[in-house]
Amino acid sequence: ALTLAIVGRPNVGKSTIFNRIVGERVSIVEDIPGVTRDRIYARGEWLGRSLNVIDTGGLEFNQADFMSQIHMQAEIAMDEADVIIMLTDVRDGVTKTDEMVAKLLRKTDKPVILAVNKADNPEQRADIYDFYRLGLGDPYPLSGSHGLGLGDLLERAFQLAHKEPDLNDDEDLITFSFIGRPNVGKSSLVNAILGEERVIVSDLAGTTRDAVDTFFTYDNRDFAMIDTAGIRKKGKVYEKTEKYAVMRAMRAIERSRVAVLVLNAEEGIQEQDKTIAGYAHEAGKAIIILVNKWDALEKDNHSMKKFTEDIRYQFAFLDYAPILFVSAKTKQRLKQLPELIERVADNHQRRVQSSVLNEVLNQAILINPAPSDKGRKLRVYYLTQVSVGPPTFVAFVNDKELMHFSYERFLSNQIREAFDFEGTPIHMITRERK
Ligand code: GDP
Repeated sequence: ALTLAIVGRPNVGKSTIFNRIVGERVSIVEDIPGVTRDRIYARGEWLGRSLNVIDTGGLEFNQADFMSQIHMQAEIAMDEADVIIMLTDVRDGVTKTDEMVAKLLRKTDKPVILAVNKADNPEQRADIYDFYRLGLGDPYPLSGSHGLGLGDLLERAFQLAHKEPDLNDDEDLITFSFIGRPNVGKSSLVNAILGEERVIVSDLAGTTRDAVDTFFTYDNRDFAMIDTAGIRKKGKVYEKTEKYAVMRAMRAIERSRVAVLVLNAEEGIQEQDKTIAGYAHEAGKAIIILVNKWDALEKDNHSMKKFTEDIRYQFAFLDYAPILFVSAKTKQRLKQLPELIERVADNHQRRVQSSVLNEVLNQAILINPAPSDKGRKLRVYYLTQVSVGPPTFVAFVNDKELMHFSYERFLSNQIREAFDFEGTPIHMITRERK
């Protein structure tokens, strides 16, 4: 997917353009609760091509003055995006702040497109030529309020983007990432894993974007640990802010097959943990819940049971995700992690035979007959698996309206019981057979 970031000083219309792109041109694939309120990141499709958009204006940093805010936003764009859109306002002309932003962006080797917003009429569009002096090439006129110019801009962005290989095209490679709030211990876990005896780091770094991914083998299986850039480039001011952490998590999740959600045993479960977990779940990734810093907790015989119950209650939607209690510091139980990742990655890719699947269906119907509504009875004729990653099943029925959420859920639970789908969500689609 192409990732675009929109950068610019306040009031040039970053959010308007973001919403225009996301709201009209891009069909949103998913909308994550908690992130929509002040949305800074969206993923979708434009003319059949996948596209992610970051509105850096939505990233706010406490205690930072105006100039350093913009500075950080530009830096994030340069770190995260494939193509950067620098937005300006034709009515204000080229301002000192624009010059400062342009100066920062001229340093990156990533493509930058200069867009001039609020060019609502022909007269204003004639004024955009002034913006050549920012040294960022041809200015593209936009009208956020009228939705003009976006098509050309996005087309240009796709032209400029260099193709980033999708690691998940390689079916044998297990891609995973540690996701979580700041300070839960993600970097410590990265280092601890790489220090494991049987983990052999390969020298493939540099083959993907910014060399941010780490490749290793374990038990003759190839792993790619995704998106450790945020971890390696430690020390940046914005790194420990929560919104940045969420955005980072979203980017990492997208590129991974397995998302390892890291919780901090000392701090317990927090709202932000759920937002991040929700995103991984919605994205259909395999998920492991890792409770880190287990060493730091005062424990008794019931601690693990209590923590598990709390997780199951608060993350009810992740009932399929295995839980592992570890310490990056003492290495407790960390040895089990690569194997667990391998297992859930395999389950995520599991294909089951149609014949066996339909035996499961017949059994399921015996246990819990399909519901009726207003005298009409649901008939589920057969089940078939249409894809993997996550395993996706289609149930062919006589009448879609009779298929309730609860029965769909019952069927996926029966599938879960019959096959090993630990750690992966299962998607169920209902279709009418005419
Ligand atoms: P990140 O922001 O998620 O990458 O978190 P870090 O890896 O930077 O860890 C944050 C802090 O927690 C650091 O001071 C670590 O030393 C500490 N930490 C990480 N893992 C553990 C652990 O398992 N036990 C304890 N006691 N401290 C840990």
